[in-house]
Amino acid sequence: MPLLELKNVDYSYPSGDDDYIQALYSVSLAVERGEFVALVGCNGSGKSTLARLANGLITPDRGFVTVDGMSTDKKENLYDIRKKIGVVFQNPDNQMVTTVVEDDVAFGPENLGLPPAEIRERVDWALDCVGMREYAKSGPFRLSGGQKQRVAIAGVLAIKPELMILDEATGMLDPEGRAEVMKVVTDLNRREHMAVVMITHFMEEAATADRIIILDRGHVVADGGRELFERPEVFERAGLMLPLPVRLAGALKKNGFDLGCPLTVEQFVAETKRALTERKTDGGGGSR
Ligand code: ADP
Ligand code: MG
Repeated sequence: MPLLELKNVDYSYPSGDDDYIQALYSVSLAVERGEFVALVGCNGSGKSTLARLANGLITPDRGFVTVDGMSTDKKENLYDIRKKIGVVFQNPDNQMVTTVVEDDVAFGPENLGLPPAEIRERVDWALDCVGMREYAKSGPFRLSGGQKQRVAIAGVLAIKPELMILDEATGMLDPEGRAEVMKVVTDLNRREHMAVVMITHFMEEAATADRIIILDRGHVVADGGRELFERPEVFERAGLMLPLPVRLAGALKKNGFDLGCPLTVEQFVAETKRALTERKTDGGGGSR
């Protein structure tokens, strides 16, 4: 049974008196335990709507959303659903509820009604995971954007969810802050086998996922492994820019220099080196 499943989900927001805006059209997808999925799409494509549906903040107009088999449209399931799925939103300032970091991280486990000793243990563990233990007694407002976002992640982690959804959680951070958050999340996925759905419009981040789901105007238009990056037209049609190394490799390929499909700068460099060495051993580059 998938950890999260959406089946033929439609969702509309009311707009004006009788009008509505349809945000999702017959969306079906599943996320399994331990997976690392990137969910990408332009502004307004329905990504945040999908995140809200996943933890039962909203329920579908048609179709169903289940978490470990439990439907989100049954109120009595919501407590268990929110233990399994944690969502980190874009702006960390809106997520801080107290004035001390450790109290903020304790908020989730307290709401679960856990015993104080267990809460203490989880708070310390979560702050360790994100490398923020030394800031336990600080006020959140004295922290940098990246640090605040790491505290917000710790708050969700302290619930020990099986799936963490990050809704453009790195969107407001500088490149260094983004890298900090990405590292924490990929480590948790690898070491703790926590499933991750990373909602992002940074294609370089999406390229680190095992699977990519593309939303375009409320429709899932692609769902597959990293080999999707070898089909640039799929991204272009959805209005997305490919990662820079993929674009460069594409331009070089058109000029007779095939590097395959390197997704990161490191892979790009390694492939370039390999291709150049092959040319030399070929006898000075026969194609020239
Ligand atoms: P994304 O996160 O990909 O930018 P959203 O899920 O926020 O997309 O939005 C999908 C569509 O739903 C957009 O057309 C947006 O304008 C609309 N929408 C989102 N939230 C609301 C809301 N609270 N009320 C009305 N329309 C909304
Ligand atoms: Mg959004």
